[in-house]
Amino acid sequence: MAKMYYEKDCDLSYLDGKKIAIIGYGSQGHAHAMNLKDSGCDVCVGLRQGSKNWANAEKAGLQVKTVEEAAQWGDIVMILINDEVQAEVYKKSIAPNLSSGNMLMFAHGFNIRYQQIVPPADVDVVMIAPKGPGHTVRSTYVNGKGVPCLIAVEQNATGDAYKLGLAYAAGIGGARGGVMETTFHDETETDLFGEQAILCGGVVELMKLGFETLVEAGYEPENAYFECIHEMKLIIDLINKGGVAAMNYSISDTAEYGEYVSGPRVLPYEETKKNMKAVLKDIQDGTFAGKWIAENKNGRTFFNSMRANLAKHQMETVGAELRKNMIWGGDTDLDTASN
Ligand code: NDP
Ligand code: MG
Ligand code: MG
Repeated sequence: MAKMYYEKDCDLSYLDGKKIAIIGYGSQGHAHAMNLKDSGCDVCVGLRQGSKNWANAEKAGLQVKTVEEAAQWGDIVMILINDEVQAEVYKKSIAPNLSSGNMLMFAHGFNIRYQQIVPPADVDVVMIAPKGPGHTVRSTYVNGKGVPCLIAVEQNATGDAYKLGLAYAAGIGGARGGVMETTFHDETETDLFGEQAILCGGVVELMKLGFETLVEAGYEPENAYFECIHEMKLIIDLINKGGVAAMNYSISDTAEYGEYVSGPRVLPYEETKKNMKAVLKDIQDGTFAGKWIAENKNGRTFFNSMRANLAKHQMETVGAELRKNMIWGGDTDLDTASN
């Protein structure tokens, strides 16, 4: 069983007198910075010159410095910029400003796991990876809850890496949900697998194919949107709350029977498992990482064309219209940061 830590196992006071530099103010950056500030920590945000988020962070009452200044200022430097630019920014602006005994932090292990960043031996290297989007890290904290986190220690140069890491997890509210101990290796591989096979890749493909199947059969696209896309969250909320049993309790027996007979038809067991194993293998042997690094070096042609095509898909355009007219005016959670 994995080792779990909760608030009682974390001592926020280890962060007393520690300066925490949060590099980046996107999805995770704004949430970590604001939660830590509200937890009483000494925080500053590090941004590139001319960043559109400079004013947003200041408006939130945070002090803002350039990436170089923040890395220099911080005893703890948490890197919350896009994974694909971290290595470059680290080499240019962070590494020259790290001091012996500092703690370098990540929210995802990609750059350490695939050796894009190789920190000096005299700093702690710790990951606190929230298992949820940044905007949820903020909204749950404000509501007295928290997004569960993973903790991993790659280097424990000072001997304090665990207690500081756990204090940080408590500071962003993660310890309220639970902090699971893992390694950079396992976090990176499971995170990439989860988002590719299930959470993002799998779910989007499933919804898109379902939507298209209904529309191609002549049903209204609005109906297809409600059925295949809108309801997904309602169903997932039930599973999130009480497991598949809670969903099955809430849905009709007809729906549950359909689940058993048609689920495996849509996702044939042997074939789907085989494909999932192939996706995992590409992650484990570095094939996926190599392709993603190359895609970024080559101007993201594939990535950009896929994004543009998806934006034009009818499930997106119909959905945007329907959400606009929902009485609560759609989801405002995403407005907290402007990225
Ligand atoms: P975002 O894309 O939301 O944030 C990007 C931030 O990085 C922005 O503030 C942006 O600056 C800054 N940035 C980008 N390029 C540069 C650059 N060249 N120099 C300086 N700053 C730059 O990132 P996320 O919050 O999604 O991801 C941050 C980390 O958290 C990643 O390691 C990710 O894997 C991890 N993570 C993310 C989750 C999520 O919910 N998104 C979940 C769990 C982990 P500017 O403000 O100027 O645009
Ligand atoms: Mg991820
Ligand atoms: Mg139904």
